[in-house]
Amino acid sequence: MTDFTGLRAIVTGGGSGIGLATATHLAALGAQVACLDLDPAGVPVPLLGLTADVSDEDSVTRAVNQAAEAFGGLDIVVNNAGIGAQGTVEDGTYDEWRKVFEVNVLGIVRTSRAALPHLRESSAAAIVNTCSIAATAGLPQRALYSASKGAVQSLTLAMAADHVADGVRVNCVNPGTADTPWVRRLLDSAEDPAAELAALNARQPMGRLVTADEVAAAIAYLAGPHAASTTGTVLAVDGGMQGLRLRPR
Ligand code: NAD
Repeated sequence: MTDFTGLRAIVTGGGSGIGLATATHLAALGAQVACLDLDPAGVPVPLLGLTADVSDEDSVTRAVNQAAEAFGGLDIVVNNAGIGAQGTVEDGTYDEWRKVFEVNVLGIVRTSRAALPHLRESSAAAIVNTCSIAATAGLPQRALYSASKGAVQSLTLAMAADHVADGVRVNCVNPGTADTPWVRRLLDSAEDPAAELAALNARQPMGRLVTADEVAAAIAYLAGPHAASTTGTVLAVDGGMQGLRLRPR
């Protein structure tokens, strides 16, 4: 098993779903982990829960520095905080479009700006961004969300090029539909949540949703020593949705 003893990590959006699963996974492998979230109330010990809003520069910079101070440095940043949006290019106000970009894209910029000075001091520095198959799949009714995740994928590759000489690896994971509180909230808003879940499962190549733990394990791989020669890559954890060229309906 990979040993993360001595490694120090922050996970944005670490209060729920994929972020909390990732923080838990990294801690189980021996890392010290801080979860930066709008609401860190549910973050269990030994994880360090810190209140942070990635759409606010002061807030996220303060939390990144707080984690670095508590741990004596930083090695791993998981830029995972994200919000969704449904609809076509004709839907949503410009404020709604800006809000999604503020969190999903500029949130990564703010967190990375705050963290890079610490990462440059590390001999095992890695950034992993949580992107989505929406980045390249051409999903219907997801124009804003897809555009934001397309930007996350491009940003990942550009950051990998910019910081390879600093010894900072940068990669992203592209989950398919993952069973997290986010997706459960969407299902619960349906008239018949059980029927909606069954239909969603039936649309997946493997007949089931991706689990948060599966995405967490992929993030941990990219963040850890076994991926020491890996930067600028996109790892799909999507039950085959992209590779098999199937389209969700
Ligand atoms: P989730 O809603 O369960 O968790 C997201 C967490 O992010 C929450 O704890 C929330 O408080 C936090 N957050 C939101 N805005 C924030 C902000 N401005 N600052 C700090 N924290 C903030 O969602 P999830 O399903 O675990 O999604 C996590 C990431 O995975 C997102 O980037 C999402 O786009 C991506 N993703 C999810 C799926 C899926 O099907 N669940 C698929 C592909 C990609």
